[in-house]
Amino acid sequence: MGRVISYNDGMQRCAFCGKGEREVNRLVAGAGVAICDECVALCVEIIADEQAKDAKLEVMKLPRPAQIHAVLDEYVIGQEAAKRTLSVAVYNHFKRIEIEKARRTRQKGDDGDAMLTPAARRIADPDNDVDVAKSNILMLGPTGVGKTYLAQTLAKAMRVPFVIVDATTLTEAGYVGDDVETVLQRLIQAADGDVSRASHGIIYIDEIDKIARKSGENTSVTRDVSGEGVQQALLKIIEGTVANVPVEGARKHREAESVQIDTRDILFICGGAFVGLDEIVADRLGRRTSGFGASWRARGVDRAALLAQVCADDLEDFGLLPEFIGRLPVVTALDELDADDLKAILTKPANALTRQYRKLFAVDGVTLTFTDDAIDRIARIALERGTGARGLRSIIERTLEDAMYDVPGDDAVSEVIVDAEAVDGARGPRIVADGRRTALRLERTSA
Ligand code: ADP
Repeated sequence: MGRVISYNDGMQRCAFCGKGEREVNRLVAGAGVAICDECVALCVEIIADEQAKDAKLEVMKLPRPAQIHAVLDEYVIGQEAAKRTLSVAVYNHFKRIEIEKARRTRQKGDDGDAMLTPAARRIADPDNDVDVAKSNILMLGPTGVGKTYLAQTLAKAMRVPFVIVDATTLTEAGYVGDDVETVLQRLIQAADGDVSRASHGIIYIDEIDKIARKSGENTSVTRDVSGEGVQQALLKIIEGTVANVPVEGARKHREAESVQIDTRDILFICGGAFVGLDEIVADRLGRRTSGFGASWRARGVDRAALLAQVCADDLEDFGLLPEFIGRLPVVTALDELDADDLKAILTKPANALTRQYRKLFAVDGVTLTFTDDAIDRIARIALERGTGARGLRSIIERTLEDAMYDVPGDDAVSEVIVDAEAVDGARGPRIVADGRRTALRLERTSA
């Protein structure tokens, strides 16, 4: 053992308070220095206080619902109701994580004080024992209206790892296909192998309606024997469990074969088109308000308005297990996109499609211009296809394919103009080539 502080009496003393070994219960001696039990207790208290303060600061640092909403607005067009619901749910989710963190820290500090009974703890914080439940989210809405995109943008706003999973590829453990643990494995990969970051991530489960059990009232869902089993398997990780996940290839855990991940603080967002659910809601509302057989559809109530009134019973009728519904307490319905929405999606968001293609052409020193007519035509074609915003990219891709092939090889081209005729495929986009027409295909397509 090393040299110990001495006050000329040969007695070991605490380097902090100076008390001698006979004045305290315990003196812990290290290399050339010692500390008494009282000073250790004091230090623990100071550190616990600091940690509690830090946890409070973390809550202060969380983006507020209005700020989350503002980030969503930058990328996602329309869907106001869903944006509000999601902003609040995500804010509450991360607040809950911070509350839990603060509580754990406080308890650690309190445990150091044997005098503080649980009752005394409650007096200090009357809500100490209150458990804030997780606010997992269910999004209902047709294909291509922004369900996945909203979830993805939320993860970006909160700077947490994110994965998208297709519920139809999931199986019960032991069957061929991805089992539920694979989802967690992918989240850890998205967090670059950092399990603690992954445990605060967001998992988006798409096509959740496809794992519904077949029900008498919803014949459009084909029987899927594994559906109910998959719901059961998902239940566990959605609610919160400690799962063992194989992590081959994850950077920080190369040596380990599997890691444990606690899913309590992972936010699950499920989405699906839920075809036929509006009829179930309409039936219930019809029965209740104006007798059997009333048709809400006949009264012009649209699908999104009906889905906005969905309740747990309707989802159960659709084929989701009651326990499963119980774990997705926040439900929001997304609207169909109209032509104006699609036009805005093409031009407004920070990474709007037309901007993306403009950037691609700019790399070759070429200006890409879409006329208003072209934007209008692209939106109308997408609307006819009925796949929401999903169809937009392929329409532009087809329109620009020849130009994207030819232009990089021709230094004379300075501008490519896409108009309605080009979108229709009647002819190619107009090519401005600084006074001289360019070779081959471009000659054919230029004005
Ligand atoms: P789904 O509702 O089927 O999950 P997605 O979110 O996958 O639809 O949408 C497909 C693509 O269409 C997105 O990646 C995004 O580029 C675009 N998109 C869809 N809806 C919107 C929207 N409301 N605002 C902006 N872009 C959208």
